[in-house]
Amino acid sequence: MKRRSAGQPAVTEDTAQAETWAGAADDALSALDLIAGELAEHGSSARALQHVAEAARILVRTEAAGLWEADEDRLLHLIAGSQIALSVPLPFDRGLVGACASALAVIVAGDGDALPSGDPLAESGFVSGAAAPLIVGGALLGVLAVYDRAMRGYGAAEQRALELLASFAAALLSARRAATEADDLAQALAQKNERLGHLQLAVRRILEQPDTRANLIEITQALQALGWGSVTLTLFDENQAVAERLTAGHAESPDGSPPDGLVPEDVWTRYLSGDLESSRVYGVYYLPADDAGSLWQPADLVFAPLRFGQHGVFGVIRVQDPVDGLRPTPESLRALDILASQAAYVIENARLLDEAARSAERLAEQVDELSMMHRADRELGAHLNMDRVMTLTMDWALRRTRADTGLLALMTDDRRGLVPFITMGYLDQAVSKFDERNPWPLDLGAVGRAARTGETIVARGPAMDEEEAHLMPGARSQMAVPLSMRGEILGVIMLASSEPDAFQENDASFLERLSRRAAVALDNARLFRQSEQLADDMAVLYSASRTITSTLDRDEVLQHIAQSMAVALECSSAVIMDYQADTHEARILTAYRVGTARDAQEILPEPGQVIDLAGLPAFLEAIQHQRPLIIRAADPALPAGEVFWLQQRRIRAGVMMPLVAQGELIGVALVLEGRRDRLFSSNEVFKVQTLASQASVALRQSLLYHEVLELEKIKSEMIRMAAHDLRNPLNNILGYIELISMSAEASGEAGTEIGEYVASLRRSAKTIQSLIDDLLTLERVESERESEWQVFDLAGLIYEVVEGERAGAALKRIALEYERELDSAPVFGSMTQLRQATANLIGNAVKYTPDGGWVKIRFTQADQRLQFSVQDNGYGISPERQARLFERFYRAREPGTDHIPGTGLGLSLVKTVVERHGGQVWFESEVGRGSTFGFWLPRAHPVAEQGASATR
Ligand code: ADP
Repeated sequence: MKRRSAGQPAVTEDTAQAETWAGAADDALSALDLIAGELAEHGSSARALQHVAEAARILVRTEAAGLWEADEDRLLHLIAGSQIALSVPLPFDRGLVGACASALAVIVAGDGDALPSGDPLAESGFVSGAAAPLIVGGALLGVLAVYDRAMRGYGAAEQRALELLASFAAALLSARRAATEADDLAQALAQKNERLGHLQLAVRRILEQPDTRANLIEITQALQALGWGSVTLTLFDENQAVAERLTAGHAESPDGSPPDGLVPEDVWTRYLSGDLESSRVYGVYYLPADDAGSLWQPADLVFAPLRFGQHGVFGVIRVQDPVDGLRPTPESLRALDILASQAAYVIENARLLDEAARSAERLAEQVDELSMMHRADRELGAHLNMDRVMTLTMDWALRRTRADTGLLALMTDDRRGLVPFITMGYLDQAVSKFDERNPWPLDLGAVGRAARTGETIVARGPAMDEEEAHLMPGARSQMAVPLSMRGEILGVIMLASSEPDAFQENDASFLERLSRRAAVALDNARLFRQSEQLADDMAVLYSASRTITSTLDRDEVLQHIAQSMAVALECSSAVIMDYQADTHEARILTAYRVGTARDAQEILPEPGQVIDLAGLPAFLEAIQHQRPLIIRAADPALPAGEVFWLQQRRIRAGVMMPLVAQGELIGVALVLEGRRDRLFSSNEVFKVQTLASQASVALRQSLLYHEVLELEKIKSEMIRMAAHDLRNPLNNILGYIELISMSAEASGEAGTEIGEYVASLRRSAKTIQSLIDDLLTLERVESERESEWQVFDLAGLIYEVVEGERAGAALKRIALEYERELDSAPVFGSMTQLRQATANLIGNAVKYTPDGGWVKIRFTQADQRLQFSVQDNGYGISPERQARLFERFYRAREPGTDHIPGTGLGLSLVKTVVERHGGQVWFESEVGRGSTFGFWLPRAHPVAEQGASATR
């Protein structure tokens, strides 16, 4: 027996079966019984339904019978037929079957009643028929109908048979449906289990798998396993642009991106604006193209946005083309939701991990950096060792930025350029040629630009300066950061790399931070160096000022000034001139050339030479305003007159420094450099300024001293002249006085008035004489040259003097006592002067002691000092008159000493003599009790003593 599928109408007839039923047709009940047995026997619903149709044709004795099943769409499908071939589904309102379905009752078209309109079987010649609905539980399952080509009627028994058969068929259909549903249910349960298995597996793998990408692939694969033919997971960056796309289950299109993996733009916009909430199932958005049926339509849209917590949407999973061809069920959407949130979780996790790793890295960097800075600070604090600190800095910079070449260059003092201080890596030999005299120019490359502008420069590949690139063979990118302190550029750190784009923003900011530290270190070291320099300068200035002030001789002072200024400025020469304001002329006073400056080319003006400043406006202005002037022959701002003047003398550079004392211009110093062009730092100008002010004072002193010397000379000359010119007439006068007094005595007039007049005349003349003598002696002492000095024995000299004074003392009955402790006392000096000095002191003691008094003379030695003193018990000197005793012409007139003649020159002569011999005078005195006058002198050295014994 052939099996037929349920939907196919049976067009062949099982003849044997039909005959059996035909035999039983007379008894409908037995026929039905037969069918029931048949059905129970066969069990196959499709076969059984076919039997129902056959049975209906035979039992109702019609030409044809058919069984129609109703579907959800109110269409009737022929599922079994006897003598009927019809495959088009019928709507409920067409023909006999349709009318039965819509009326839900038996419809008979016979006995003159035509078939309802539109019956498709009318076309096959059928004119009458009857139909019975298949109803179970109030629901229409189908229609059983019979047809005949001849008009006839259907009796009650026939209708009853049809109805019975219809209820049979209804039971069969309902059982079949239940079986199908049960099958479906079983299948669905199995699928669900399988899906759950997939889901569990996927989630477990995600939890175990640390790699984000692998996890996402896992998720897409799980979705595929759950029955989605196409799965696309798209990740967005912060700008909502596609950052990554994972697809599974469909071929990549030729351009590499899946054709429809993304959610259409407009839908996505609506989603973002919250417009799609009505389409949301769990976290999944399901937008079917229409609501007709359960079959998947290509325009159906299912997607799950990826989001986590408060974060925005960072991706989307879109699923398409279910393998079973059916639209998604809530369960499959739930599964998608679970996997989408897993994906979000995975991505968020990865992001957090990444962030944690990054911040850990940042932290490590910071710790690293801090420890480096700390080390740098410590190094600096401990050593002020620039080399070490800067090497450390560069080493660090290279390590952190992964640069392979580095240069740290420092600005020259005159800010003309940079001098490489530390070089690391692949720098050309040529870099080492830049030095203080020939620095790295400020217009060369990124290094120059950073120094010039104070900005960080990052250059990659073609942006690199060509000339500079030559100095760093192989470098393809570079970065230069200035070292600046309080707005002043101290230097530049440059890093280079053979990688084309090696330096990023964070490298630049790191290097800037490092540079700030390095600049502080540099500045500290510079301050330290400056303070050392200052100390050096002070030493130079000190020794210069000592040299300058070591003499009062004007020419020597000028020489010293010129010398110390040239040396202090490290120049090759210096000249000093004076300036005549009325004529604008300067006269060269002295010119000095530094002995070690051998290759100096300048031609120095000769002393006495006059420079007309009228044609040299810059010089003139500096002098008139008493301001220093830095001069460079190469300076474009220097007037042509000066440039010519300098060129003529082959002078390359210099500083003009007016010498000013108490606001008065007393000269002009011109420090000159004849070897090379050079600049002068403000520090150097300051130094020479300090020197100039000291020089000015010294020069002024020497000028004053010169004036004093001049005056002194004139005075001495006058005294000598006066003394000489007075002496002869005075001797004449004294001679005549003697003659007069002799003739007065002879004529017996000695006791008369005349005799007294003559005696008074003599006294006055004698006073004049001793005044002249003292003046001449003093003058002689002061003008005596030390070249005539010698070593002699002072003890012997004193003995002679004491003996010489004895007569005078005897006249006044004064006891003269000499305590001589020393046999020999060598002294280097003038015998004449010391004889005069000692004689004066002994003479004074005798003179200012009343008759019958005593005078004690002592000559002793303490250490290397020879002590001489004269004590008397004479009139003494009151305290208020003691202060001026050693002044010239001063006489302390005490009551009772008025009659004693004197000039007031004696003690001043003693003081002058003793001090010229390196000793000191002293005295003690009390009115009415007496005085002690004395002095000490240095004993001559042993070598000189031999000279002393030789002269004796
Ligand atoms: P004079 O020619 O007046 O002695 P001196 O210069 O020698 O000049 O002495 C200055 C003054 O010091 C004297 O006028 C006298 O008043 C005082 N004088 C000097 N020696 C003594 C002394 N031994 N006792 C007291 N007075 C003295």
